[in-house]
Amino acid sequence: MKWTDYFITTMKEVPADAVAPSHQLMIRAGLIRQVVAGAYTYLPLGYRSLRKIENIVREEMNAAGAVELHMPAMHPIEWWEQTGRVEAMGDVLVRLGGTSEDDWRSRTVLGPTHEEVITEIARAYLKSYKQLPVNLYQIQTKFRGEARPRSGVLRTREFLMKDAYSFHLGMDGPEGLDAQYRRMYDAYCAIFSRCGLPYVPVQAESGPIGGDASHEFMVPTGAGEDWLVRTQDGSYAANLERAEVAALEDAGGGTNAPLTEVHTPDVSTIDDVSQFLGCQPSELIKTIVFAADGEPLIALVRGDHDVNEAKLARAAGVQSLQAADAALIKRVTGADVGFAGPVGLKARIIADQAVTVMHDAVTGANKTDYHITGVNIGRDFEVKEVADIRTAVQGDRAPTGSPLVFEKCIEVGHVFKLGTKYSDSMDATCLDAEGQAKPMIMGCYGIGLNRIMAAAIEAFHDENGICWPVAIAPYQVVICALDMREEQVREIAQKLHDEMSAAGIEVLLDDRDVRPGVKFNDADLIGLPLRVTVGKRGLADGVVELRRRRTAETLKLPPDQITSKIAELLEMMVAEERTERPKNA
Ligand code: ATP
Ligand code: MG
Repeated sequence: MKWTDYFITTMKEVPADAVAPSHQLMIRAGLIRQVVAGAYTYLPLGYRSLRKIENIVREEMNAAGAVELHMPAMHPIEWWEQTGRVEAMGDVLVRLGGTSEDDWRSRTVLGPTHEEVITEIARAYLKSYKQLPVNLYQIQTKFRGEARPRSGVLRTREFLMKDAYSFHLGMDGPEGLDAQYRRMYDAYCAIFSRCGLPYVPVQAESGPIGGDASHEFMVPTGAGEDWLVRTQDGSYAANLERAEVAALEDAGGGTNAPLTEVHTPDVSTIDDVSQFLGCQPSELIKTIVFAADGEPLIALVRGDHDVNEAKLARAAGVQSLQAADAALIKRVTGADVGFAGPVGLKARIIADQAVTVMHDAVTGANKTDYHITGVNIGRDFEVKEVADIRTAVQGDRAPTGSPLVFEKCIEVGHVFKLGTKYSDSMDATCLDAEGQAKPMIMGCYGIGLNRIMAAAIEAFHDENGICWPVAIAPYQVVICALDMREEQVREIAQKLHDEMSAAGIEVLLDDRDVRPGVKFNDADLIGLPLRVTVGKRGLADGVVELRRRRTAETLKLPPDQITSKIAELLEMMVAEERTERPKNA
């Protein structure tokens, strides 16, 4: 392909509103153009890369035995009502609007995901255990009413997802969900490895199902919105929501001070109380009242820690957890909001492990405008239930004992054991070997294609531009013909271009009549893995220059050796750029 015949829209200026490197570079390299907030055009170069990612995803899904279909973006809202997700999704669910009840638009939504639609298909066609397991996938546009689209294509309102859904009657054995989940997990490792991404699978929150029921695939980069928490040696990794912490040791201290009630008028937040009493937030016991499946539940954590509601729900064995309103707090503690404490409280209490090693602590007095100091567990109150119910913080250790390291990261993929949530609510049953109708057990597996592209740019760029991994680069080679007015340069450049194309190498020939500096800058910016420079001076010595974008290694070779060398190099680079499977995977 000749540059002048193609459509390349590089620009020098850094777009004012773009902060994330991938956002800046994708615009500057002419890969994308914003249409409205959260929706982008993929310009020709960008679209080539996206298609390559799509191919890798499709190949690995097919290799893992998943079967491709295609579902529409438009769904009837009834199905979403059946699964209770109109409420659960809130504004994320994009509705077409409509002016009246009988306007079809008011009964139609644009799918943020496709569990409802696929479950209806399973219900219609999967009748007997003999048909299972089935794993169906698609690569399709999703719509999500994200409140804040940001960082270019990392978070948009319209994006491409590969979503797969598997159906089973049991968890175990080769037909069961566990085996299929593993296969998808392995396929994801293969996909990210082929894309050259430094990925880390992490345990993710999976609600009441718990256990190893959900993993996210993370790419550590400063542009991410999520936190990856792992040990230095990589043997433990989880997202922040899920990360477990090792028990804190009892550091001793404390004087077994007497319980003392202190008047703290209008002083109710952790910060205000610690300031008022001249102590550290870590010396306070935070007492939080929840409504758990309708019953009051008290969580105790150290003042500088946060309750992790998912951990708490699991520890409590409850399905739903809501922060209590002022009325419930008053009923349980007898005080206004901000003055709760465990001493004398008659309700179910779960204490975080860190609370059990506190001495002479400060808590609310269960009396408006009062706190108490000198609170000691065992002496002043008992807790029957102790668990890890807080979010990890810097300085914590993993259950393995190694210190946890926190890194910003991007979630590029997610595998999830759904269980029977959708088959129950949509009545998708299948006859088992005994002829009994059972709700199908489901797994779902999603990958964001656009995010893979942006994450790769986040991981591989320098101050001059993108450094694409070969596997997902829009083209593999750019030929910079330095002086298109020189006949010999023109001829050799064209010959190399034709030779490479014939050898199946994807090559872009920069045949513009512009200064060398402009060509080199653009070549660096669009970041193709190899650059060939054909110039008058080199040709006088009988050579052209070959340069690897990522390492800046250069070679000078006679033109007739270039194509075979490039073929050899590309093969080597693809192998070299594949990422290793992480230790914890
Ligand atoms: P996030 O937590 O980032 O909002 P999610 O957990 O809601 O994502 P899933 O429902 O698990 O996302 O979707 C599967 C994959 O789709 C994600 O791993 C991600 O790669 C991609 N994805 C999700 N939301 C977006 C978005 N708004 N823009 C681009 N890609 C997205
Ligand atoms: Mg997710």
